[in-house]
Amino acid sequence: MFKNSIKEVLQERRKKIKSSLEQVAKKSGRGENNYNAVFPQYGRAEDENAEEVAAFIDGISMGENLKKSLDEIDLALKKINSGKYGFCETCGKKISKERLKILPTARYCLNCKEDKK
Ligand SMILES: [Zn+2]
Repeated sequence: MFKNSIKEVLQERRKKIKSSLEQVAKKSGRGENNYNAVFPQYGRAEDENAEEVAAFIDGISMGENLKKSLDEIDLALKKINSGKYGFCETCGKKISKERLKILPTARYCLNCKEDKK
């Protein structure tokens, strides 16, 4: 079934993103399960500080992108479970399989997506 293979793809992606998030969390010195970055207490030396802050901000934006993708995947998986997967959220029409293959987390059909630009 098409939906089952999509589900596998999504679950596989979800795993990868989760482990990347754990890496980001580790790098920023937080616990593995805490993805919510809180600005840490850095040393006072100015040079050192700037570097650490830059590294920290990189970590945040990376973590935020990952979290966003994770949310999209979760939403798609929920839809698969509730039988709503593959329908456009705007017009309710079926999203083409070709589109879903390229973008399994697509929420809108091509027509509606273009309207949103
Ligand atoms: Zn639509």
